[in-house]
This record gives sequence, structure tokens and C-alpha cells, in this order.
Amino acid sequence: MVTVRVPAKVNVQLGVGGVRPDGYHDLANVFFAVALGDQVTATPGEGVTLSCDGPDAAAVPLDDGNLAARAARLLAAHHGLADPGVHLHIDKAIPVAGGMAGGSADGAAALLACDALWGLDTPLPVLLELAAELGSDVPFALLGGVALGRGRGELLEPLPVAGTFHWVFAVADGGLSTPAVFRECDRLREESGLGSSLADVPTPDADPALLAALAEGDPVALAAALANDLQAAAVSLRPSLADTLHAGTEAGALAALVSGSGPTCAFLAKDADAAAHVAAALRASGTCRTAHATHGPVPGARVVKTSA
Ligand code: ATP
Repeated sequence: MVTVRVPAKVNVQLGVGGVRPDGYHDLANVFFAVALGDQVTATPGEGVTLSCDGPDAAAVPLDDGNLAARAARLLAAHHGLADPGVHLHIDKAIPVAGGMAGGSADGAAALLACDALWGLDTPLPVLLELAAELGSDVPFALLGGVALGRGRGELLEPLPVAGTFHWVFAVADGGLSTPAVFRECDRLREESGLGSSLADVPTPDADPALLAALAEGDPVALAAALANDLQAAAVSLRPSLADTLHAGTEAGALAALVSGSGPTCAFLAKDADAAAHVAAALRASGTCRTAHATHGPVPGARVVKTSA
């Protein structure tokens, strides 16, 4: 049996460029791994089977579309294993379809768990390539820490960061579809008259003030630099998120932003006590399903337990 712990992510910067001819957007994406995470346990089995526990378990597909199952099959195919056998159990704490890359996290965890269970010893650069094949957020879940993602988000450069930052995540009822939020971002850009094509939107780049705030471990400077180009689109599709963001800043958060494509909202706090206070205020506000105080950065997917 092998258990892997894997972090969720928040994008402290999500710069979205124009629509490329292949339909994707160029991104300048600063990923930040937080302690809120899932656990994936691999045990020997017949075929690839799945189970899931946790408050959002009913929303997690248990068929071949699950990224953990796809990861197991991809790793097996890479090594020429004709008949891979594994049962993957997901202890799910990351909100589903919440903009925190929970499915990608489970894909990364399953790669690592199956690699250990099957004794394959796949080198990290190969695991990262397989991860990129699974989805653009999967490599970061393997790497963790803080990293700049370019292209569709899959070309990663680890970034220096000092100390620990304290976060609160407000979980909404129901998810938002990431492709729908990108489409809404394009629609809002068209509506504003600026246009949404590559020619209309400047290529996004990492904000030097944000990188300096991370390197210096300065939460006040990081709060001032947080930016998410998808936020307006997420709020447009789910207007109640404006109330959630407001409730967190009223409770003393240094800054509030939608996490990735939403609908989870992220709040940066000055320390652990402030984060606990903001989380309690958000839970009492009636503007979200629940709220978790957590911290980061933390490492990427790693084996936390093995037994024969
Ligand atoms: P991202 O931030 O990468 O855009 P997200 O956090 O918004 O993703 P996920 O939780 O990854 O969203 O789920 C998106 C969809 O992926 C779900 O609605 C579900 O159908 C599917 N999915 C596949 N595998 C998983 C998994 N292991 N856990 C959760 N959802 C999964």
C-alpha cells in the first residue's frame, strides 16, 4: 500500500492572453501550493478501480474520466505494462470544480503512488512529461512550492519564496466549468470593445512586484500584487462571489481574489491568527458553504506512508 499527499493550488497571478489559433490562451500563471490537499492511496487490485471519500465525493467521477485513473493507465502504458492492477482511494479535501486543480492534484498523486506500488522508479523529468500529457495543471502538483507557468501553464519555472503565507479558502456550493469561465472572459473582452484575439490582448508576463513580494516573504506586498484575469468572468457567471469576497475583506483579510477559474475564493491573511478569524467570519457570513484556514507554500505530491 502506498499513500501520497498532494497539495491544492491557488494562482497568485493568473494573466490571460488572447485566444490562440489552437483555441488555448497563453497564460502567465504563478502557482502557489497550499497545505489544503488530497490523499491518494494505491493498493494492489485487478484493473484500475477507484473509490473516494470526503464532503464532495459524490461529485467525483469514478470512471475512466477520473484523472487519477487516467494517470495510472498512462504510467502503465509508458512502461509497457499490459494489464495494470491498482485500486486508488482518494481522500478528497480539495473542493471539486473549485478552481484549485483538485483533479490535477489527484492525477499527480496517482502517478507517484502507482510508480511506487509497481516499483517502477520513473525519473522525475519523465513523470513531469507524463503529467503534462494529463493536463496543464498536473506538473505543478508534482512540483509544489511556487512556480511560474507559461504556455498553457505546463512550462514550469520554480520561483524563490521566503517564509510562510497564511490563506483562507471559502468553498462555494457547486463548481464552475473552467472552459466556460475562459469563454466568459473572452466574451467580456469582446463586449468591452478591446477584443479577445492574440492581436488584441498583450502577452501576459509575471509581475515583478509580485515576484519580489514572494521572494521577500512579505504578505502585505503580495496582497497588493494578487491578480486574476479570470476573476471578472467568474463573478459574472456567479455574481454571489462578490459578497463572499467582500465578507472576507470586511473580516480583515489583506486581500481577496477568486482562486483560478473559481468559484472558490482565496483570502490572504497577515498571520495564522488572522486567518483563523477570517475563516470563522466567512463561515458565519452565509456567503459560502464553508471556509478553511491553511498555509503555504508546501511541497508537491509526496509519499507519506508505505506498507507491505
Ligand atoms: P482547475 O483549477 O485545474 O481548472 P478545478 O479545481 O476547477 O480545476 P477539478 O476539481 O479538477 O476542477 O474538477 C474539474 C472536473 O474534473 C470535475 O467536475 C470532474 O468531472 C473532473 N474530475 C476528473 N478527475 C477528478 C478528480 N480526481 N477529482 C475531482 N474532479 C475530477
